[in-house]
Amino acid sequence: MTAPSSATSWLDEIPAQLADIEQAHLLRRRRVVQPGGGARLMVDGQQMLAFCSNDYLGLASHPALAEAAREATHTFGVGSGGSPLVSGHSAANDALEHELAAYVQLPRALYFYAGYATNTGIIPALVGAGDALFSDALNHACLIDGARLSRATIHRYPHADLVALEALLAASPARRKLVVSDAVFSMDGDLIDIPALLALCERYDALLLLDDAHGFGVLGPQGRGSLAHTGLTGTAASRRVLYMATLGKAAGVAGAFVAGNATLIEWLLQKTRTYIFATAAPPLLAAALRQSLVLMAAADDRREHLRQRIAQLRTGLATLLGAAPGAQGWQLLPSHTAVQALVVGSNEAALALMESLRQSGLWVPAIRPPTVPVGTARLRIALSAAHTEDDVDQLLQALHRYAAECTATAQA
Ligand SMILES: *Cc1c(COP(=O)(O)O)cnc(C)c1O
Repeated sequence: MTAPSSATSWLDEIPAQLADIEQAHLLRRRRVVQPGGGARLMVDGQQMLAFCSNDYLGLASHPALAEAAREATHTFGVGSGGSPLVSGHSAANDALEHELAAYVQLPRALYFYAGYATNTGIIPALVGAGDALFSDALNHACLIDGARLSRATIHRYPHADLVALEALLAASPARRKLVVSDAVFSMDGDLIDIPALLALCERYDALLLLDDAHGFGVLGPQGRGSLAHTGLTGTAASRRVLYMATLGKAAGVAGAFVAGNATLIEWLLQKTRTYIFATAAPPLLAAALRQSLVLMAAADDRREHLRQRIAQLRTGLATLLGAAPGAQGWQLLPSHTAVQALVVGSNEAALALMESLRQSGLWVPAIRPPTVPVGTARLRIALSAAHTEDDVDQLLQALHRYAAECTATAQA
């Protein structure tokens, strides 16, 4: 075999491929940020009012979390030093696991360093070649990647279409079936019908994995999450549910956990490669998280404040969408959660709107394919207990101004 002599390397094609991405308005850019107080951020040195943070309760900057982390470094140092099954399972991480299980009212929990690694690890631990996996079309990327890694046969059903899911479950000859779904969908904000989903799993002998990244801390009594919100925890908990949630959103820190019946969690501990072969999360994070659970349980005032901001935004947008021709084609998706999606359609329209808001000092991310389906580019407005009434008013006024300008331009 001789190597081709004059042919260019595939590495030489990457600049043109990057240029194509930019042309399609899909080039992603990072901004350098620093906290700016409340819901404000310093973005590339400029103060912005941010509607892009998943810090739904405003706890990420809470001094008690910082103090807990600082104190833990005196006891534990900084790094965990090893994987959990060797030497990295610190007393702080162990205590956190017990407290997480108690918080979500399920028998046992396993604490991970990241949500992405949780889902890409636990799905292949549960199903493999010859098994069947059923996945909502709008599931988070890490559920999709976990499904692919598992090599189970993947059945994708239209978003929240439980009739379609039932038909797929009924037709599947697989003995082991796993249904995976976001509880609160990350780019739409809607909550799946958990009792109906679980009833299907009971009927077809399937296991249900729920990803509650956006419901944990926000929904349910004392923020215990979407599953507790349905009453299906504690003595009513089913052995068919694995409840997963992340700890870098409402909990304000980092990491994730999966909770469920003790046997399933023990299985995951034995079989999850992203858990076994990775360094355990630093104990200082577990210490901060233990403090965060205490604050979250007592944060009904923050959750009530967040609910009021959600209602304020939805009411304010309803009048805009009904009245301004410039807002025609915009659609506010149904959602009672902190995630509010204003769908505008094309990538260009979403970027233009984001840019206009940015010039008013408002930072609201435009979400484009492949994160969301083609033609549904949107503003993903993330609300937080850190937003004041005036903050949300500022956003509403800017959106009204933009729609009015669009109307004027169209009429000129
Ligand atoms: C953020 C998110 C994850 C990933 O969690 P990380 O801890 O950030 O890795 C998983 N699932 C959903 C639905 C998410 O929104």
